[in-house]
Amino acid sequence: MIKKRNHTEQSTTQDFHKERLSTGQKVGVINLGCARNLVDSQEILGRLKKTGNRIVDIEHADVAIVNTCSFVADAKKESIDTILELLELKKQGKLKKVIVAGCLAQRYGKELAAEMKGIDAIVGTPSFLKNEVADQVSLTPKHFAYVKICESCYNRCSFCAIPGIKGKFSSKTIESVLEEIKRLDKAGVKEVNIIGQDITAYGMDLYREKSLARLLKEIVKVAENIQWIRLLYAFPAHVTDELIEVMAAEPKICKYIDMPLQHISDNLLLSMNRGITTAQTKALINKMRKRMPTASLRTTFIVGMPGETEENFQELREYMLETRFEKMGVFVYSREEKTAAYDMPGQVAETVKKKRMNTLMKDQQSISHDVQQGFVGRTLKVLIDEKEEGSNDIYIGRSEYDAPDVDGSVYVNSKRVLKPGDFVSVKITDALEYDLVGELLA
Ligand code: SF4
Repeated sequence: MIKKRNHTEQSTTQDFHKERLSTGQKVGVINLGCARNLVDSQEILGRLKKTGNRIVDIEHADVAIVNTCSFVADAKKESIDTILELLELKKQGKLKKVIVAGCLAQRYGKELAAEMKGIDAIVGTPSFLKNEVADQVSLTPKHFAYVKICESCYNRCSFCAIPGIKGKFSSKTIESVLEEIKRLDKAGVKEVNIIGQDITAYGMDLYREKSLARLLKEIVKVAENIQWIRLLYAFPAHVTDELIEVMAAEPKICKYIDMPLQHISDNLLLSMNRGITTAQTKALINKMRKRMPTASLRTTFIVGMPGETEENFQELREYMLETRFEKMGVFVYSREEKTAAYDMPGQVAETVKKKRMNTLMKDQQSISHDVQQGFVGRTLKVLIDEKEEGSNDIYIGRSEYDAPDVDGSVYVNSKRVLKPGDFVSVKITDALEYDLVGELLA
């Protein structure tokens, strides 16, 4: 029996199951947004399973949980559309309950309650457990996992609503991260993706200093089955020489880093409150390139930030053409309430934003094509993710230069039967814009 709550009250997942969900329910989740949300969904399911609920695919669920995202306008729209679809299924009697969790619920709980009467419960983002490893139901294939080491953010980028949604920055203790790594290692995981809003701020609360490098050294010591440790969501102003050194020196740490730069012009880095200058950004990228020449740098830029002039945009374009990031994404600035940039002068027209985004993405397409061509003839270590549907001898995998879900793949021709989680050597024979093709060597 689900008890209708007074929707102004936000609650934590801990009492999610006790108060709202009697046991034995068939529960399914739709996870929207980023990998951090995915970990939250795994924890929500872990707690519900622990209290006797059955975790099923959403198609077979009586109770549907949608873990929402509200980072930018497009994400909000996708979340609201998904809620409406679930409410329609409920109206048709195909679902008994609809529960809305995550960032949209945290940010707009009252509005959702007022405007969407059919929702049975609105619960914000799960509380972050610093000192313990949460029970989780994995939503990733068995051979890779995401490990969230910190929650929320120290930074206050002027365009970003996340700190307002997620609250105080909080790191997990090194001990609880290592316990989680050991569990995953024992479970046969081969690749762990280290995530947070800003993983490079890890430990600034608990240990009064940036402690990601220290944490990585400890993770490497306990990683036996785990062959790849990948870093996602680094904040340029928080990247230390020690971190670059550990990344370069430790073979198990992928020569890959996801580090949104957002822009390159001094006036915009300032108005974005990024805590770094053009010169410092360029120096950091040069240092990384020098110390890890084969590394794959993934970044994102925002175009159309208030005050962005055509000159600023051209400066950004020249910089990305010159730097040739292996992976790059572009967001158009999304005017978010309760952010410092919301009321900034010089708001840019939507058409101009879109044009700038398309220009950069087109440039990146040819850069990516050239980068991929550079792999032809080389031999890469590839982690097999799956067999290509309908094929007998083509498998889909990734090299250390490709993160799950966001980057390209390596298509492997193999007469030998391969399994998800196998590491194989592949001779690259062809390259597409974002993907590679190769022959199994061993
Ligand atoms: S680093 Fe900036 S953009 Fe990223 S979550 Fe923190 S405040 Fe938002």
